[in-house]
Amino acid sequence: MKAFEALESNVRIYSRSFPTFFSLARGSILLTDGGRKLIDFLSGAGALNYGHNNHQLKAAITEYLASDAVVHGLDMATPAKFEFMETFSSVILQERGLKYRFQFTGPTGANAIEAALKLSRKVTGRQNIISFTHGYHGLSLGALAVSGSGFHRAAGGASLPNVTFAPYDGYLGPAVDTADYVRKILLDKSSGIDSPAAILVETVQGEGGINVARKEWLQSIQAIAKEAGALFIVDDIQMGCGRTGEFFSFEFAALSPDIVVLSKSLSGYGLPLSMLLIKKDVDAWQPGEHTSTFRGNNLALVSATAAIDMYWRNQNFSLGIQRMGEFMRRRLEAISSRYGNNFAVRGRGMALGFDCQIAKIAAATVRKAFEKGLIVERCGPVDQVIKFLPALTIDSETLSRGLEIFEDSLAETLNQVRTE
Ligand SMILES: *Cc1c(COP(=O)(O)O)cnc(C)c1O
Repeated sequence: MKAFEALESNVRIYSRSFPTFFSLARGSILLTDGGRKLIDFLSGAGALNYGHNNHQLKAAITEYLASDAVVHGLDMATPAKFEFMETFSSVILQERGLKYRFQFTGPTGANAIEAALKLSRKVTGRQNIISFTHGYHGLSLGALAVSGSGFHRAAGGASLPNVTFAPYDGYLGPAVDTADYVRKILLDKSSGIDSPAAILVETVQGEGGINVARKEWLQSIQAIAKEAGALFIVDDIQMGCGRTGEFFSFEFAALSPDIVVLSKSLSGYGLPLSMLLIKKDVDAWQPGEHTSTFRGNNLALVSATAAIDMYWRNQNFSLGIQRMGEFMRRRLEAISSRYGNNFAVRGRGMALGFDCQIAKIAAATVRKAFEKGLIVERCGPVDQVIKFLPALTIDSETLSRGLEIFEDSLAETLNQVRTE
């Protein structure tokens, strides 16, 4: 790792948490150049829902590359883009009674968030955005302004205006419905909160600590947005593409956002691809008002189409995620009670968090897990939550083995803490 210290900026982070050379990857297994096998419960921070180097998806892009079809075409019309939009419309949208236009943005999640915020402001002529405590939406200035993390905000080095933070579901404990507060301040013209262009929400906060919003709360927030004349935006960058058990994370609450933001696992292969789904009546863009050189990269669109073809044409994949998610939750809850119940297990589908309450315990557990062959990361305001995001394609044996390594690592950590 010495070479990286010398060559790469201090800003690097995962090469510090997992100090080894990763050379090969397949499905849920990463191989180091020393031949060590690691189980991956990090999955590219949610960008690898279908696993590493998924062979079926690889076949589609290999064939595409070999044919000399257009890879980079800005936003010119190509058969690859047309096929993606057609497939996504029929398999994902129509099946769910949804109707959206596609906007391909720059390849990062942050750029798609920027586009969603700009469009909301343009449509409403308002500037303020309502975002939620512990929310995470990316680190470019506009996206940073709607993100809660003090650490990241401080690194922005500029003012982060035109945002009002409201308490997320559960922020004030189970007895308080924070939607009541949001309704009150937005419908009271003298609350001091400027009328918002949009309310932006994650249905499960990934970086924020796997905080799960209830169905009723989400429905209230959507209704409040409508009453307040604001757009309702769901950031489904991390929780979309099947992570919570259905393609969109908001299906369980039957929401109908004005804008849906997708990125991370959208391409299916870890290739950069981001887009907005926007309702026709809020599509107020002038041609070219938001562009980016790498928007809608064709290679990424080809793997994205293949992923939808492969996994979303029937219910089986979705049911499998729900089944494995239940298995994970039961296993984590059993671990929690076995080791004294000073923990909380949260999540939906295959996005689960094990809240250690104490950052030191989470850090030591994750370090030991890496030594024992499991890659898993932390999240939450003080990184006290261990975040489980295995590939949705993982086999049950590897899943069990990963959870076993986690349990051993936690047990060892707790033993050490006790004897300290
Ligand atoms: C990762 C993430 C982003 C930012 O995406 P980048 O590609 O890192 O810019 C935004 N919102 C959520 C919910 C995310 O998980």
